[in-house]
Amino acid sequence: MERRLFLTSSALIGASLLSGCKREEVKSFNISKKRKIEIKLATSWPAGFPIMGEGVEEFAKNLNSASGGEVEVKVFGKNLLVPALGVFDACSKGQIEAFHSGPYYWKGKNPAFSLFGGFPFGFTSNEMSAWMLYGGGLDIWRKLYARYNLYPLLGGNTDVQMGGWFKKKITSLKDLKGLKMRIPGLGGEVFAKLGVNPILLPAGEIYTALERGTIDATEWVGPALDIKMGFYKVAKYYYSGFHEPGSVLELTFNKEFWQSLGEDLKSLITSLSNELNAKMVYNFQDKNAKALIELKKYGVILEEFPKEIVEAAKKALFEVIEEQSKKSRDFKMVWEAIEPYWQIQREWTSLGLKNFLRMRDG
Ligand code: CA
Repeated sequence: MERRLFLTSSALIGASLLSGCKREEVKSFNISKKRKIEIKLATSWPAGFPIMGEGVEEFAKNLNSASGGEVEVKVFGKNLLVPALGVFDACSKGQIEAFHSGPYYWKGKNPAFSLFGGFPFGFTSNEMSAWMLYGGGLDIWRKLYARYNLYPLLGGNTDVQMGGWFKKKITSLKDLKGLKMRIPGLGGEVFAKLGVNPILLPAGEIYTALERGTIDATEWVGPALDIKMGFYKVAKYYYSGFHEPGSVLELTFNKEFWQSLGEDLKSLITSLSNELNAKMVYNFQDKNAKALIELKKYGVILEEFPKEIVEAAKKALFEVIEEQSKKSRDFKMVWEAIEPYWQIQREWTSLGLKNFLRMRDG
């Protein structure tokens, strides 16, 4: 295409020289050539971070090539251009055109944002994408983000997360009293109601804190990413989880920038973001299954929380939701949009997938 442009351009210049044409005409041809659009995309993950970082790198590469060179996306890993958790503000102000992160990080801006990331006992990754794309979720999210001059697209999903690594076996609610655990978000608030002392720690400090006993337990993501953190070396019990059944990642654009794009580019970027969203789940599925085999070789003990804890956590979830709804009108509005959709999803998923899994593996 560039070659064709060059030839046309040379032919025009040649023709205009031959006909003694004025310089202005050549100039106006140059102006009509499309200007390259640069997108600075900052992430909350380190450069080259497995699965999540890889996904966004692939998105950038695909957009660069599918746009025929019209767009140039430059991905900046965490802290390279803006601090990991500074991406929301930087994009809102237009210092960067886009970011890749997770909506629950911004609950301090608006408590409702945590719900777009998922919630304990909430949507699976499939159900979450269904709500976002076909159940009105994305529209509500976009309305709330518009107040911050932002426009979110789907940027992936971690799929079901593990409940975490515990140094001691958890047999009853009593074992959770005073337990120091690294667990953020709504999951942390639910565990706090069960007597856990939720601790927030930057990723780089979790392993040492667990090793030294500064914390007794930590959750992270799932086998694929947890194995790289080495938690199995210092905590043997690995629990299945209910706190993050399908956490959403976002690919968010500065809204003014987004609106300045042509319809062709908007539709291309939207398609590629849907691809990023879907493929990340497949990538997690592939890598988690393989990492689990490795973890079992290291003598990790796989556990499930006792029923007593699961039931208490469900009760605690509704208390947390009620409290948040009283504090924030937006939280209440988003929850009221989610709740009926969640109920009908649960019914179908139970009848279809849950029963199938019981027959396949039970
Ligand atoms: Ca997590």
